[in-house]
Amino acid sequence: MMGEIDSCTRLTGLFGHPVGHSLSPLMHNRAFQELGLPYLYAAFDIEPSNIASAVESIRALGLRGVNVTIPHKVAVMPFLDEIDEEARQIGAVNTIVNENGRLIGYNTDGRGYVQSLIEEGNINPPDARVLMLGAGGAARGVSLALLRAGVERVVITNRTYAKAEQLAVELTQLFPGRDIRSIPVEQIACEIKESTLLVQTTSIGMHPDNEASPIPAEYLHSRLLVSDLIYNPLQTRIQRDALAAGARIHSGVGMFIYQGALSFEYWTGRKAPVHIMREAVLASLTADK
Ligand code: NAP
Repeated sequence: MMGEIDSCTRLTGLFGHPVGHSLSPLMHNRAFQELGLPYLYAAFDIEPSNIASAVESIRALGLRGVNVTIPHKVAVMPFLDEIDEEARQIGAVNTIVNENGRLIGYNTDGRGYVQSLIEEGNINPPDARVLMLGAGGAARGVSLALLRAGVERVVITNRTYAKAEQLAVELTQLFPGRDIRSIPVEQIACEIKESTLLVQTTSIGMHPDNEASPIPAEYLHSRLLVSDLIYNPLQTRIQRDALAAGARIHSGVGMFIYQGALSFEYWTGRKAPVHIMREAVLASLTADK
């Protein structure tokens, strides 16, 4: 399956814990193969207590770079030489690039999301009136990227209201002059009427809870694009409810593919073969069913 591995092969990979179910190795190796690039992507299961030496090993072993996932996205930061501005604002790194021993941290999650939203959701960010469900790590990256892309209005709601409030305050400091607010979940019914983009960032509806939805179906309306970060299942309950209400939907699989595509481009300097990456991921997700 892989191209030839020889003494010129450059190694990339994933630092996480666990990493057993990740689709990143499949997606990146297919992309390297497609372009005939002498790269290999491996999954490294790193215990939290080993994260400092794991980052040091990128230098020692001359890895070209790695993706970083749960639970290491924040923990790697003190061991890097440089952190890009966007990753600093998000407060987490998902991509490390080794530039001749100098380790640079980036975060491609939010940008990957926005790129997929524009390509697949057919949305012009400055026109979108965003209601965001959830205020966890993914919500932070995605809301920042939406604001960086020109979104004027972001309303955040979350089960734990204090977290929505805190995120709205931090975003307002970074983007003064934009309409950024938090609301308690009881106000969703009214707020959603004014919204055109619903971004679902909670873990509600994720496999195996395929029938769960964070909001009642009757709140959804036909002027909405319902974007769910979840990609397993490929279509979530809220998205099925959205289609029934005449709304459009956007799947989280695009975010996964584009965040990987941006990492790929940092490491190889080549444009990522997004269609091949998508094909590999979708084939694997549908084969699992
Ligand atoms: P996280 O930091 O743990 O945040 C989880 C969020 O879900 C919080 O807002 C939490 O609310 C909310 N939540 C969880 N259970 C809930 C419940 N029973 N009722 C109400 N709210 C609940 O996780 P994350 O990293 O942000 O990830 C969130 C989702 O995004 C996951 O499903 C993940 O798979 C998906 N994701 C997708 C991609 C992609 O590439 N497509 C990338 C990253 C994440 P509280 O604050 O009240 O706990």
